[in-house]
Amino acid sequence: MEIKYTQILINGEWVNAADGATHTLINPATEEKLCDVASGGAGEIEAAVASSRAALETGAWPKMDGGTRGRLLWKLADLFERDLMEIARLETANQGKPIFESSKIEVPFVASIFRYYAGWADKLGGETIPGIPGFLNYTLREPVGVVGMIIPWNFPLLLTVWKLAPALAAGCTAVIKPSEATPLTALKLGALCLEAGIPAGVVNVVPGRGSVAGQALLDARGVDKIAFTGSTEVGRTVMKSAAGTIKRVSLELGGKSPNIVFADAKLDAAANGACSGIFYNKGEVCAAGSRLFVEKKVHDEFVEMVRGKMTRYSPGDPMDDKTRFGPQVTKQHRDSVLAKVAAGVREGATITIGGKAAAVNGKGFFLEPTILTGVRNDMEVAREEIFGPVLCVIPFSDDDDAVRIANRSQYGLSGAVHSASTERALAVARRIRTGTLSVNGAQWFHVDNPFGGYKQSGVGRENGRLGFEEYLETKVIALPSEAKP
Ligand code: NAD
Repeated sequence: MEIKYTQILINGEWVNAADGATHTLINPATEEKLCDVASGGAGEIEAAVASSRAALETGAWPKMDGGTRGRLLWKLADLFERDLMEIARLETANQGKPIFESSKIEVPFVASIFRYYAGWADKLGGETIPGIPGFLNYTLREPVGVVGMIIPWNFPLLLTVWKLAPALAAGCTAVIKPSEATPLTALKLGALCLEAGIPAGVVNVVPGRGSVAGQALLDARGVDKIAFTGSTEVGRTVMKSAAGTIKRVSLELGGKSPNIVFADAKLDAAANGACSGIFYNKGEVCAAGSRLFVEKKVHDEFVEMVRGKMTRYSPGDPMDDKTRFGPQVTKQHRDSVLAKVAAGVREGATITIGGKAAAVNGKGFFLEPTILTGVRNDMEVAREEIFGPVLCVIPFSDDDDAVRIANRSQYGLSGAVHSASTERALAVARRIRTGTLSVNGAQWFHVDNPFGGYKQSGVGRENGRLGFEEYLETKVIALPSEAKP
């Protein structure tokens, strides 16, 4: 396939790293080389931040009214729809996610996010404050400034746009640092921003290693805010580094989300939800329902039902429309998932199905979708992210027991509750400490729904009005007034 953008985008120009560094991308389904991508370092980050700073302080962007910014975001959405299949194929070839997911779900979702935030761009109203006699006080909502965006490899495009669309709507400028493993759709995004007419320098894209380019972005004085998605471990580094210049931070981190199935639930639908909750994007999902809590009296029956539905998730060529289960993103990641499964078995878990590496046409970093039973909530497989297609099944006895063990986690990102009694499901949902909870369904993502974590799953929210607020500062203007109230 033709890959047009493999360089660094700084100030509207495509450049190589000054030291010539590159990173080789391998298609995880075929193990063939895709391309070499320029790998930026501290110098490229410095130049990109300077460009974003200039675009914010002296360029056309800050002078533009919100309505014009909104029209540019709408244009960007149109361009994503025009190039939908090219972008979907890039994402699938680089990340391994099925083309069904990239072309039918994620790229259309991206276009809808740009349109949603296009609507916010001209609604940056403040408020008048009646408090102090003799003054006319009012607030202005202003862009937070230059935003450094650091992105993981599991939803390379979607998680970039969750940040970029509200940031641009607010009038911010951005330096995007995609994951070194999956930079291709972020580079295409940079090209489309220029084509849409967003001024050069408003969006810079610097692929590079986390410890080099990512760290340089965290340390840069010209950056006002870091919007990060990734592991909780690197999230801690982000918070510590941001403290140096008191950057604002929003963090979308790891999860170990509970999926609770009561015996009175519609078990067939709940089994579908359990499968899509863990096997979508081959389990490389922060919000995956990776801990499946099943009421004891239906445990064996329910595990069999889930198992029966897993044929849908057989490893297949991700470029085939019918495939619902692709390879893990890299060999290194595939091996780390296998090592975690093996550690679970050493702690006493049983592999009910799966648990081995797989191949399609003799190639690829595939895994068999896996169920571990006999899991206790204190085992490492239930405490730490596996971030692969591994469902850990844990029995529970009653509502209090389910809530107690579901909440016994350092994470608090997402979850689901299944019961025929809406009253019971809602009561349990209220007691679970996570940012999102679905009742009788898998995780429902929508651009209106604020998404983010409690506890060590993060700080802040993405999507919806709250996702827009993350990119705004509030200024009070106080004007002495002749007119006394
Ligand atoms: P990661 O934390 O290893 O890397 C994320 C990004 O941080 C990458 O761009 C990486 O290059 C960069 N990075 C690494 N070290 C850095 C450093 N010292 N300074 C600055 N940047 C650095 O995560 P990953 O392996 O790419 O992605 C998987 C993780 O992301 C999982 O833990 C998953 O739960 C999490 N995630 C969370 C959400 C959410 O919305 N909560 C969504 C998707 C993924």
